[in-house]
Amino acid sequence: MNNLALTKINYGLYVIAANHNGRLNAQIANTVFQVTSEPAQLAISVNKQNLTHEILLEGGVFSVSVISTEATMEFIGKFGFKSGRNSDKFKETGFKTGHKGVPIVTDYALAAFEAEVTAKLDVGTHTIFVGRIVNCEILSDAEPMTYDYYHRVKKGFSPKTAPTFIKQETKREEKTMKKYRCTVCGYIYDPQVGDPDSGIKPGTAFEDIPSTWVCPVCGVEKSSFEPA
Ligand code: FE
Repeated sequence: MNNLALTKINYGLYVIAANHNGRLNAQIANTVFQVTSEPAQLAISVNKQNLTHEILLEGGVFSVSVISTEATMEFIGKFGFKSGRNSDKFKETGFKTGHKGVPIVTDYALAAFEAEVTAKLDVGTHTIFVGRIVNCEILSDAEPMTYDYYHRVKKGFSPKTAPTFIKQETKREEKTMKKYRCTVCGYIYDPQVGDPDSGIKPGTAFEDIPSTWVCPVCGVEKSSFEPA
């Protein structure tokens, strides 16, 4: 069985958000599908470990924002690789509140949906939630980001909690010397570029970065990096 066959299936990139009594969270998802047209319903697959899963089970409503190719890796990192348990994902994020009180992320979003959960299916590590769309809108005419674009152009990885995570993915090779790769999110530290946002000047060797430095995309420690 060649699991890489699974990488030939197409997906998009979305932010799913949920609210229960003022407890908000949002996360990146690639598994969002329209499953019926009358009534219009969406299905999403969410990892049981994720805070969004916990809130969604209780709140019973979710939003889906379709993310454009303009989204930065920092934006994807905030929603895809950091947990809402130790960071406020809505700080410095553009969002509005939908009819059902669910937050709808508007940064880099070209369309948005709000849905009420109508069915749940336990599929082991994940729950598939089906939701009836109660509101939807187009926010811009930007290009939707496909999962393929995320991997090929943005050089992004899948977190271990993604339904489509494949172990081989972390073994992808890059030939450039002296660069270091985050083994969690795939961010590449390039000494020529440095990480000016975190105070690391261009021309700083990886070895010379202070041990307190963390991955600017997913927030893991320096020790989670390996030569790229
Ligand atoms: Fe990272």
